[in-house]
Order: sequence, then C-alpha cells, then structure tokens
Amino acid sequence: MSAASVGTTGAALREARVDLGAIARNVATIRAAVGVPVMGIVKADGYGHGAIRAAHAQLAGGAEWLGVVELEEAFALRDAGIAVPVLTWLHGPDADFAAGIARHIDIGVNFLEQLEGVAAAVGRAEVHLKVDTGLSRNGAVEADWDALFARAAELERRGAIHVRGVFSHLANTDEDADLEQVAAFERALSLAAERGLDPEVAHLAATCGALAVPESRFGMVRIGIGSYGLSPVPGATSADLGLTPAMTLVARAAAVKRVPAGAGVSYGHTYVTDAATTLVLVPLGYADGIPRHASNAAPVSIAGETFRVSGRVAMDQFVVDVGDAEVRVGDEIVLFGDPAAGVPGAVDWADAAGTIDYEIVTRIGARVPRRYLP
Ligand SMILES: *Cc1c(COP(=O)(O)O)cnc(C)c1O
Repeated sequence: MSAASVGTTGAALREARVDLGAIARNVATIRAAVGVPVMGIVKADGYGHGAIRAAHAQLAGGAEWLGVVELEEAFALRDAGIAVPVLTWLHGPDADFAAGIARHIDIGVNFLEQLEGVAAAVGRAEVHLKVDTGLSRNGAVEADWDALFARAAELERRGAIHVRGVFSHLANTDEDADLEQVAAFERALSLAAERGLDPEVAHLAATCGALAVPESRFGMVRIGIGSYGLSPVPGATSADLGLTPAMTLVARAAAVKRVPAGAGVSYGHTYVTDAATTLVLVPLGYADGIPRHASNAAPVSIAGETFRVSGRVAMDQFVVDVGDAEVRVGDEIVLFGDPAAGVPGAVDWADAAGTIDYEIVTRIGARVPRRYLP
C-alpha cells in the first residue's frame, strides 16, 4: 500500500482510520448480548479493515473462533501466528485440503463430492457440514442431508475426518422466514444425530440473526459486520445496538477554488453551480472504492459541516461544492465514520449509492492506507 502524503505536513492524502478498540468492544458487547461463543469473521481482508489486525481485535474482545471464506485467507491468519480455531467454507475444485488439515484449519463441507475430497486428503480433517436451510447458496439441500450425514459418519468411524460442526446461514428475509430456517436447521441436527454424528458446535446466525433472532443462536454465532460496528438489523442504528463503527475514511482537500455561477462540475456536467461558489477537490475515487452511484448524493463532513458530492465521482477524485465555507488545501474531509461523532456513517454512503454499508467498507481499495488506532 502506498502512503501518499501532502508535501510539508506529512499527513496522509487519504486514509482509513481503523479503531481496533472499537472492534474489540463491539465483539464484547455482542458476546454479552448473545450468551454464546463468537466466531469473528475476517473474510475479505476483515471487510476492508485489515484481516490480521481485525482478528487480533476480535480475539481481544472475546471471540474464540475466527472465520474466513477460503483456505488462503486462513493460511494468512496462521502465518501471522494466530492459533485459535479457524473455519473456511468456500472451496474451489482444486482446494488444497491437505494443507488446510496440516495447518489445523476447519473445513466447511457443502456436498458429497467435496466431503470425499476432504476425506481423501492426507490427515484427519476437522469438518463442519454445511446444510442449506433456505438461502440456496452453498450447503447441501435437505434431500441430500441423509446421504451426506451417513457418509460423514462412516468416514468419521474410519478416522478420515472428524465432524466438529454443523452449520447453515440465514437469508435475513424476515422473522418468519428466519424462524423457518431455524426449524429446518433443527431437523438437520436431529438427522445428523440419528446418523451417528455428535458435532460439538452447531451454528446458524451471523450478526443480524444473533442480535434479532435469539432462536438462531445455537452453540455459536458468526459475527462479521457487527464487530466492525455497523448494523445489519433493519431499523436499528449502530448506536441502538451499542456498537461503534470502526472505520473512518478521510482525505485532505487537494485543491480549492472559486468558480462563477454556471460552472459545470466533473464529467458530463451533471452538477452546475447556481452561484459563485467554492469547489473542493477530494482525492478519492471509484478506484478507491468510492461508489460512482453516490455521485451528486453522498454526504461528506468538513469542519463539522455537511456537504454533498457535487457532480460525478471519477476514478481518483470527486468535487464538493462548499458554498462560501472557508476550506483550504490540506483541510480534512470525512467521508464516513461514527455518526455519534457528528459525521456521516457508511450507511449514509450506502443509502446514497443504493447499496449496503458492508459493500462501502469492504470495497475501500488498496491505495487507501489503513491507520490503526489502538
Ligand atoms: C460473511 C458471513 C458471516 C458474517 O456475516 P455478518 O452479517 O457480517 O455478521 C457469517 N457466516 C457466513 C457463512 C458468512 O459468509
């Protein structure tokens, strides 16, 4: 990552500040609310916050497990010296399960052929069987549970695998649909027991289910977005849930100028000044993960005042019309952070761009240095 800086001050031209203490506190808050162990999710570079730093913060907050999508992400955690249980659940046909087993990575298994691949790899895998309870993404559909469980039990008796967990994932459609998935998950657990499996941990809920659907907590919850302080619960803000957004995205004004009325701003002139005004150039663009769909819509905060993106977001920059506000080159612009601190939230950018805050923080690009606050 580059550490771009403005001439004499040495301050970063753009940076994502990541409050590691907030991540730890968020996990502790959720852990206390749910009353079951927490798996901290650090896939996709910790939702853009930095996987290793986020993992350490989650563990400091009381997470006992970590979860990532694929084996390579898990190896990076092991390379960093992290020894707690780590689960992975998305594998290509050529996934190196033997390496996963050797490095004590738990393997989520989604279908019979994958189970055979894991069992054939050298060493005894710790397996979590994934059942599809209604999301229709990964995991075995109900018609295939019996065959999957029976075969897993057989492979377990032979010592080729150990079934440590059974898990699934909610669709977060509405409470009724979630409760139907809870019921389906319970059917899966009974069937697994009937086929001779005795998994030590059953887990279904991610952050939203963990906080909003107590019936979905089972033996562990998998907490991603909540640890980063963002709310997946419809109608509830971070503050409502006692969570603190961990990422604050800032840039420094790269240029400031007065323009007359009638000035067209950025590509396509979708914004035209209606009076003489001051334009501030913000050195972040869609290459950095700033959504172009937020053009003419998303808020920024400068010295406590809120303005809007004016004109289109470009690859490396966008413009903000600040009227007659006194802004100088080098002044700090906050795109999003903790709304409790009086700045826009990632959710405001998400609303402006027609997406969710998960996507806003996760897509912040590699050109934006992360600065970690303890
Ligand atoms: C990403 C993911 C999670 C975490 O979800 P959040 O909503 O961020 O808490 C949990 N489980 C699985 C299988 C996931 O893919």
